[in-house]
Amino acid sequence: MAENRSDGALSVDQQWSRVRGSLRSEFGEAAYKSWLQPLKLASLRDGEVTMSAPTRFMREWVMSRYADRIRAIWHGENPAIRSIAIAVHGGSGPRAAPSPASEQQPAWRAAASPKAADDDRYFGGALDLRFTFKNFVVGKSNEFTYAAARRVAEADAAPFNPLFIYGGVGLGKTHLMHAIAWHIRGRDPNRRVIYLSAEKFMYQFIRALRYQHTMAFKEQFRSVDVLMIDDVQFIGGKGSTQEEFFHTFNALVDQNRQLIITADRSPSDLDGMEERLRSRLGWGLVADIHPTDYELRLGILQSKLEQLGAGNVPERVLEFLAHKIASNVRELEGALNRVVAYATLVGRPVTLETTQELLQDLLRANDRRVTIEEIQKRVAAHFNIRITDMHSARRARAVARPRQVAMYLAKQLTPRSLPEIGRKFGGRDHTTVMHAVRKIEQLCETDASFAEDVELMRRMLEG
Ligand code: ADP
Ligand code: MG
Repeated sequence: MAENRSDGALSVDQQWSRVRGSLRSEFGEAAYKSWLQPLKLASLRDGEVTMSAPTRFMREWVMSRYADRIRAIWHGENPAIRSIAIAVHGGSGPRAAPSPASEQQPAWRAAASPKAADDDRYFGGALDLRFTFKNFVVGKSNEFTYAAARRVAEADAAPFNPLFIYGGVGLGKTHLMHAIAWHIRGRDPNRRVIYLSAEKFMYQFIRALRYQHTMAFKEQFRSVDVLMIDDVQFIGGKGSTQEEFFHTFNALVDQNRQLIITADRSPSDLDGMEERLRSRLGWGLVADIHPTDYELRLGILQSKLEQLGAGNVPERVLEFLAHKIASNVRELEGALNRVVAYATLVGRPVTLETTQELLQDLLRANDRRVTIEEIQKRVAAHFNIRITDMHSARRARAVARPRQVAMYLAKQLTPRSLPEIGRKFGGRDHTTVMHAVRKIEQLCETDASFAEDVELMRRMLEG
């Protein structure tokens, strides 16, 4: 399975045995033996892990009492896992005849709201209970999109149509979409809000074609008040689905129904999509989510920690995580979950050292190696000097100071030794580098605006 391994991660079976270990220590021997040990690992697909229980009753019991923790622990082990389902295995009791995989109705999903799962009017995907506005932390990188999402959620008539949200993986697009859905449903349960992934849309459409249900398929979509399609970049390439999507789209917009679309790129960058569809997607409001900055990451960690109700993670550890795991919020959450699970396990707060050990794999992947060349480039651009001046023998203050800043940053941000750094700066001696480092440290202490400048460059380099 492709999604369960990234750079030497554990196999699903290994993850499962770790999950069991965590469950055992979290719930104690007795509860574990009665309810959790009998669970078997069945499959992992599309971010959903399915386990099976020997009886229906057991399944219900586990779902009602342990599902959230099982899901969270799985997610901590493998951030790709978003939801869990429990099926019934074994010979006892009546079993449904095997149905085509596509038709199967998983009995119960932890990520789904019971309301959404039970209500067959909602043929879309289930909504994640955690993805609410309340749980969304706002920062510079997402405030615009957040405001747009709120606006749509609170409006009675579509304020912009469609709302097109785009941004990189794990930056909160799906979260915001679900938040809009929860909000609208909360205000007026009668409004039909449909959320589904573009893949699911295509799949349903293709199935409708095969069984000649296309009329019903169209009707379904055309009677909704709000239609949300997630990850629309996957619609590219399939001619007839695009065609249908386009018609559905136009019909809804004409009736002033709200459409909300997400993608990993802007409408104009959606290659493989017809031009008329692309331009149509850009008609309403296009809002992008930028990569997170340190403050937002720290804010998210603090908020998640509160949600988890686990107080025993020191601030230093949170700062370390926010600093180190810059790739996306999903990984950040995964890291926090691991740390929390560990702290719960050993019953005392984790230290920085333990954290580093626990998260070795994640940290390595996130270690953006800043090179000395990048530093020189950035610093030269900042002071508006030529890169060659980083190597040159010129001693004029206008070039010597920036050069010292670059040496200082090289010492701070790379694992290079003083002599190595010296060599990269036109073959200077290591004492020159040492002198530069001291000089910049001094200046930072005495000159606040200089210090701010240096800090700014450092942040930009760390991305
Ligand atoms: P995307 O759909 O953009 O790939 P998701 O919406 O699935 O990303 O977000 C990934 C994870 O990160 C989710 O668990 C989500 O709750 C969390 N997340 C992302 N951004 C934020 C935020 N600003 N505040 C709180 N949680 C966030
Ligand atoms: Mg998403």
